[in-house]
Amino acid sequence: ITVSDLVAASYERIHAVDDQVKAFITLNEEAARAKASELDKQVDGASNPLFGIPLGVKDNMVTKGLRTTCASQILDNFNDPLYNATVVDKLEEENTVTIGKLNMDEFAMGSSNENSSYAATRNPWNTDYVPGGSSGGSAAAVAAREVFFSLGSDTGGSIRQPAAFCGVVGLKPTYGLVSRFGLVAFASSLDQIGPITKSVEDNAHLLQAIAGHDPMDSTSANIEVPDYSAALKQDVKGLRIAVPKEYLQEGVAPEVKEAVLQALKVYEDLGATWEEVSLPHSQYAVAAYYLLSSSEASANLARFDGVRYGVRSENATNMLDMFKLSRSEGFGDEVKRRIMLGTFALSSGYYDAYYKKAQKVRTLIKNDFEKVFEDYDVIVGPTTPTPAFKVGEKVDDPLTMYANDILTIPVNLAGVPGMSLPCGFSSDGLPIGLQIIGKHFDESTIYRTAYAFE
Ligand code: GLN
Repeated sequence: ITVSDLVAASYERIHAVDDQVKAFITLNEEAARAKASELDKQVDGASNPLFGIPLGVKDNMVTKGLRTTCASQILDNFNDPLYNATVVDKLEEENTVTIGKLNMDEFAMGSSNENSSYAATRNPWNTDYVPGGSSGGSAAAVAAREVFFSLGSDTGGSIRQPAAFCGVVGLKPTYGLVSRFGLVAFASSLDQIGPITKSVEDNAHLLQAIAGHDPMDSTSANIEVPDYSAALKQDVKGLRIAVPKEYLQEGVAPEVKEAVLQALKVYEDLGATWEEVSLPHSQYAVAAYYLLSSSEASANLARFDGVRYGVRSENATNMLDMFKLSRSEGFGDEVKRRIMLGTFALSSGYYDAYYKKAQKVRTLIKNDFEKVFEDYDVIVGPTTPTPAFKVGEKVDDPLTMYANDILTIPVNLAGVPGMSLPCGFSSDGLPIGLQIIGKHFDESTIYRTAYAFE
């Protein structure tokens, strides 16, 4: 099989199903086909598992000369970014082929993809349901076999939750493992780019290619990247699994709980042990997350002013109106809600009561994880309290939408890595995700644990 065949198959599939799935915002067809024919002239490629693989990139990572919108009207005309995100550069070096840019919630704010200003991506398993978000396009495109691999970003669950809803494997790496250079910032202290794939093995290959220190990102860790594929070959005999009781209490659907308990049974059979533990502060995680992430977003999104990037309002007659109108017309409702919340939380007089308090809660949550990891190798639980919900079901109720992230958000606040992998189906035939959480920079143990189950 040639790279041209692979790329052609990818576009054929996209042209057949993407009208329904709506995973893509922008396709890169001409350039991708040209690159494929170039790659077909090279003989060497057999030793590189990523050579010629069709890849989708979430539309909040900049791609040189390829439109990057963050699914926002304010970047609708951002057709010609000047550089690639570091992850994109790294994958170009591995000779993957960028098929297109994937749909998402606007600026990665959302859990259902319904906040995209273009179209709501649908769940390929049943198009009445959401694919999750904000990397809904990235998960749906892999699940619908439009691309082999995709990149997503995860600030409060946005890789793991859609991976769970779409029945694919998604990993949020340790904060600092993967460069954020060229990722349009939402909440810089939480954002991480990660791989979404069909299998655990593919996932390890993709992480291998994007991980590692980048001088262009001051929060990028200077560590030696381990060989993740090597970790797949070890078994889980003697592995100590912790299961937080907060992750199986009421609010978690019975069939989700059942699927997780079944998975734990599999681990027992494989020679691992599990015990119940507590992450006592996780009940405060959602509140702390929305304060901190919105505060950071209100600062990060100040750069979208109609001057430096993107769309400028045509209705303004003076400078101040130009800023105001460009932002009012360019941002969607959810983004405006977060900017207002964040601006309020950072205002003088409120800073101590909200932002500072949320930072303290964040530390307590981080300590909870550290304490558990003194005695256990991994933490296992569900990725989400329920399988995918229906399109439109939560769209008018931001608080229940936010609550959907209750099991993923603590991981971002603690900065540790977490994966979602499929572990069963609901009675409606929708996938259920198993979440595996590891110690800082211990993605290897997550891969080892996931591979043994898969
Ligand atoms: N759903 C969460 C939010 O809306 C998480 C988003 C994310 O991880 N990018 O903020």
